Order: sequence, then C-alpha cells, then structure tokens
Amino acid sequence: MVIVMDVNAGEAEVNAVKDKLTGFGFQSYLIKGVKRIVIGAVGDRKSLKVLNLETLPGVKEVISIMKPFKLVSREVHESNTCIDVKGSVFGESEPVLIAGPCAVESREQIQAAAYHAAGAGASILRGGAYKPRTSPYSFQGLEEKGLEYMAEAAEQNGLAAVTEVMDEHSLEIALNYVDMLQIGTRNMQNFKLLKAVGRCGKPVLLKRGLSATVEEWLMSAEYILSEGNPDVVLCERGIRSFEKYTRNTLDLSAVPLVKELSHLPVIVDPSHGTGKRELVSPMSMAAIAAGADGLIIEMHPEPMEALSDGPQSLYPEEMYTLAGKIEELSRVINGKLSPAVV
Ligand code: PEP
Ligand code: MN
Repeated sequence: MVIVMDVNAGEAEVNAVKDKLTGFGFQSYLIKGVKRIVIGAVGDRKSLKVLNLETLPGVKEVISIMKPFKLVSREVHESNTCIDVKGSVFGESEPVLIAGPCAVESREQIQAAAYHAAGAGASILRGGAYKPRTSPYSFQGLEEKGLEYMAEAAEQNGLAAVTEVMDEHSLEIALNYVDMLQIGTRNMQNFKLLKAVGRCGKPVLLKRGLSATVEEWLMSAEYILSEGNPDVVLCERGIRSFEKYTRNTLDLSAVPLVKELSHLPVIVDPSHGTGKRELVSPMSMAAIAAGADGLIIEMHPEPMEALSDGPQSLYPEEMYTLAGKIEELSRVINGKLSPAVV
C-alpha cells in the first residue's frame, strides 16, 4: 500500500500515519522526494479497513497495490512520468537521442564523437569511463580523466552527458561531471548501488539485466524510487537467449509491456541489443514504432579503431542518416506527417 501525503503535510502528520501503521504491525518507510511525500507500507491487507488512514490529517490518498512493484507502477501514477535531463525530456512525444562511443578513449576521440552526436541531433552524449569488461585484460576505461574529457566535450557541443557507474566510488566521482547516471546490465541487481543512486539526486538510466525478467527489472527501479529518486529512465538492451548471430536478443515487446505496467519512460539500446552495426538502424526504427521514448546508440568517429564495441558502433555518417529517419518516423507517429513520405 502507498499513502500519498498532501504536499504541505508536516512532520507530525507524517509521524501520526507511521505510528498508526506500526501499531497495526505494518512496516513503513518514508519516501521524501523533491516533488512529493509518500509512505510505503507493507503488512496484512486485512487490517486495511480498520486502519482507516484516509481520515488522518495530511493524508491525500491511500492506494492499495497488488503488484510487487509499487512506486513504479501505473497504479500509483496513471500518467506518464516525464524526466528532464538538462532540457531533454524523456516521456514526451519527441524521442530523446543519446549517442556517443562505448568508452571515452581520448580527449580527441570524445570531442569528435560529441561534435557528430550534436550534428546528428542527439541531445545527450554517452561514454563510459568505468567499463565493466568481461575480460580483466580488456580496456577498463580512463576513469576520472575520461569524465573530465567527456564533460568538456559535452559542454562545448551543448550536450548533456550520461555515464555508467559501477560502484559507490565511481558514482561519487561521476556526480561531479555528468547529468545522468547509467546502471549497466551487470549491475541491475546490485542493490547497494541502486540504493546509492536512489539518494544521489540525479536522473538514472537503468538498463535491463542480462537475463532479467521484466518484473525483476521493475523491482530494481523500485529500489531507486524507494530511496526518494523519482527520475528513472528504463532501458531495454537485449537479453540472453540461445541465438548466436546477434550478441543479445532485443526484446522490443518489453517496450509496450513496461509502458502498460509502469509510468516511467522506456528507451532502447539497439547497439548492445544486437551487437551488429547493420542491425542498429532497423531496430532503432522498430523501437520508436513500438513506443520507445528514446534511443541510446553507440557511435564512434573511427569504429575500426574502437577499444570496445567497435563492431556495433555506427560511423558518424550512419548516425546522421539514422537521426534523420527517426525524426521523420516520429513525425508520422505524432500525426504530423503522412506515412507515404517515409
Ligand atoms: C554500455 O552502455 O557500454 C554497456 C556496457 O551497456 P550494458 O550494461 O547494456 O552492457
Ligand atoms: Mn558498449
């Protein structure tokens, strides 16, 4: 159950609700976001009637939720949540385009990438500085120096920046340089890290785990919201399957499904989702057609020289072409253009 308090409810009113819940054997926790105060409560549903929380001062609404995920559920929040990252809004009609290399490799490389990302119409620059690599011998990222280069390149090209954090240490550093924090597929169930980004005050891009069910993914988002951070953008990036031609199996059905279950924006990563440059453009179009609120695309100034994920990285020219197609497609979807033009 979720108890939504009036925006102006004071500490005494919140405590009165919590005391009553404790008295009836409920566990409660306070979610004090910037925009609202919510009390989450878990306990025996049978006591709900006697509790009669609606009558307490400061209580706006009591919502009983059957699903295991509560705060991310559409049952709590009927309309789409819109998340603003330095002027780019996820969840509105225009898809947000995030582009950039898998990893920041040098000052020159990220500057060239940022120049092309902005030129193509992306509004957020991506780039990893702390890389979760399968092999300990692979390039691990430039760490703080990489973030410095990235922040500079983003700033010079009027872009926001997103980077992956792997633990609380990298989170603390990344907070000084970027506008959005990415939780990668391998850390989707790193609950300590989810709680930490839940308290960090910046929007979070939460990728779906390598083999995570939709419910597990939404439960991970619940961790972040339950710590008071309502700004979570979900990202479908493919899941493990028996198929070997592609790196992962991009589950586009997750887009409309998650949008039905949750009010949070959903974007798609066709680069990791397929692992193949030639599949990125068609799957990007399919993602937007399926209702995705944006795309995160790997693009490298020289993919053949990339230190990670070169085979799935677009050439800058391909990025320009794709961005143009996405723009036209979203105009069709929003009813501003006839499909014959595409
Ligand atoms: C990445 O974005 O470069 C990355 C490592 O993504 P994922 O966690 O989806 O594999
Ligand atoms: Mn990558």
